[in-house]
Amino acid sequence: MDNSLKIKPFFVGSNIFARELFGKMHPLSGKRVSGVIELCQAMGWLKDEDITQSRAASFNTLSRFHDKQYITAIKEADQAGMVSAQIRNKYCLGTMENPLFKGLYQRAATTVGGSILAAQLLKDGGTVYHPSGGTHHGRPDRASGFCYFNDPVFAILEFLDQGLKSVAYVDIDVHFGDGVQDAFEQEQRVHTFSIHEEKRWPYTGGLEDRGGGQSFNMPVPHGLNDTEFDYMLDQVVYSNLKRIKPQAIVITLGADGLYGDPLSKMNLSNGALWRCVMNLRAMSPRTIILGGGGYNPWTTLRCWAGMWGLLIGADLNAELNSEARAVLNALECDLIDEDEMENDWLSRITDEPRTGDIRPSVIEVAAQAK
Ligand SMILES: [Zn+2]
Repeated sequence: MDNSLKIKPFFVGSNIFARELFGKMHPLSGKRVSGVIELCQAMGWLKDEDITQSRAASFNTLSRFHDKQYITAIKEADQAGMVSAQIRNKYCLGTMENPLFKGLYQRAATTVGGSILAAQLLKDGGTVYHPSGGTHHGRPDRASGFCYFNDPVFAILEFLDQGLKSVAYVDIDVHFGDGVQDAFEQEQRVHTFSIHEEKRWPYTGGLEDRGGGQSFNMPVPHGLNDTEFDYMLDQVVYSNLKRIKPQAIVITLGADGLYGDPLSKMNLSNGALWRCVMNLRAMSPRTIILGGGGYNPWTTLRCWAGMWGLLIGADLNAELNSEARAVLNALECDLIDEDEMENDWLSRITDEPRTGDIRPSVIEVAAQAK
C-alpha cells in the first residue's frame, strides 16, 4: 500500500458555506455542504476541529486565471446587489443561471482558496476532501452553469507550481467539465477525463474532443448503470492513468449522476461513485476530492457524507441514529415529488447497487474514447 493512503485525510471547509445561498427558486438553493457537515457530525465522523478552514483567495490570486474586469464585476455586483444589463450580458452574471446573492464574492473566492489550500496540504502526499469545490464550468471571463470562479483549475495550478510533472483531472459530475479542460488545453502536464451524460448541457465534450491532445471525453447514454460506469472507468480512465502515472489527481465528484437526481437521467448508486474515487486515490500519491453538482439533496448529502465516512474507515452500513435521520428528514426540494422519494434516502447512507447489462452504445463510447 502506498504510504500516502495511510495519512489521515483532511476535510477542508469554511463557516461561510453554512450560509444560505442562491435564491429560493434556484436548484442550488437547498442545503449542500452545510448539510454534509451536519450529517457527518451526526454520524460521529467529523468534529469541528477536524475541519481545516479555508480562506478566500486574494484578487491577485484569482487574476491568475480570471480576467481582472470580471473579478471586479462580481465584487461590485455583490456589493451593489444588482448588475446593469451590460454587465449581465457580458459576464452572464445576475441571471437565472448564475444569480447574485449576498456574500457571493467571498464565498466563490473561499471555494478557490480551499482548493489551493488542498493542494498545499498535499505536498508530501495524502488525501483532501473539499466538498464545496468542483465549480468546473467557471470561465476566465464569465460565469457559467452555477459556477463563478473555477476552483479545480486553481488546485491544478498549485500542483504545477510545486513542480509536479503530471496531474490528472477526473470529472464524474453528470455535466462535462468544460472549464477545466479548456483551461489546460495548452498544458502537456495536465490530462483531463470527463464522463458525462450525452445530449445534456453544455452539449460539448464529444468523443472527438481531445482538448489539446491530453483530454478524454466520454459522453454516455441516459440511464448509465453501475456496471457500465465501472466498464467505462476500466477501459478509458484507469488504463490511461496507469500509463500516465499522475503525481496528483483532482476529482470532481458531482452527485448529479446518481439515480433520483432531478436534473439528469442516470442510474448510478453512490457505491459506484465511491468505488471510482477510492480506485483513483490508489493510483496517485496525492488526491483532492471536490464536490460539484447534485440537485437531489438526499442522494447528494448521503453520497458526500458517505465519501468522508469511507475515507476515515467508518462503517457505512451502520444503522442511522435519530440525529442523522433528523438531518435527512429536514431536507426539502421543490424539484422532487413526495411519491418519487425512496425509503433509503431517509434511512441509510448506502444505496442498493444499480448493476445491469453493458449496452453496445457504452462499449462503442469506451472504444472511441480510449
Ligand atoms: Zn453537474
